[in-house]
Amino acid sequence: MRLTGCPMRCVWCDSEYTFTGGDHFSIDDLMTRVSSIGCKLVEVTGGEPLAQKEAFALIARLCDEGYEVLVETGGYVSTAAVDPRAKIILDVKCPGSGEASRNHWPNLDHLRANKDEVKFVVANRDDWEFACDVTRRYQLETRAHAVLISPVWGKVDLKELANWVATSGLNVRLQLQIHKHIWGPETRGV
Ligand code: SF4
Repeated sequence: MRLTGCPMRCVWCDSEYTFTGGDHFSIDDLMTRVSSIGCKLVEVTGGEPLAQKEAFALIARLCDEGYEVLVETGGYVSTAAVDPRAKIILDVKCPGSGEASRNHWPNLDHLRANKDEVKFVVANRDDWEFACDVTRRYQLETRAHAVLISPVWGKVDLKELANWVATSGLNVRLQLQIHKHIWGPETRGV
């Protein structure tokens, strides 16, 4: 479920089409549409899904109705009021995004080691070193369920990045945007 709007402007953003447009739905309407799909796993993303205040009620309603809920957030908005039954996938913005100064660092205090994940989107070597530093400083290997390293499409040599990850000694996981490899980088809704 992709919500419209984002207060950030990451220089490599691949979902700028979510900044505007979209349709208006009530939470009841959304529940009907989700139910019709027949899948019990729902990811709430954007844009920045938590920028819409109604998103918090939507997430709680999905949890109430027995869905497994993943919330993918850019790390600018506080996650403190997200329903605790939902799993958080929290971006920590690296310097190459141009938005690292807007990371809401207290979000790292709310991580649950048994469910939440932290993601660093890496555009270059400096970003990788930033990700390593934050991972060590905030002990993310033990405070999060997973630490994901995701390359900016077309910006990082994947073999090089894989080598950095493999030789880092850190328990972090390389995550590719597999839908772009399968369907191409411009295809939406896959
Ligand atoms: S937080 Fe996400 S949606 Fe917002 S500008 Fe950055 S990459 Fe794009």
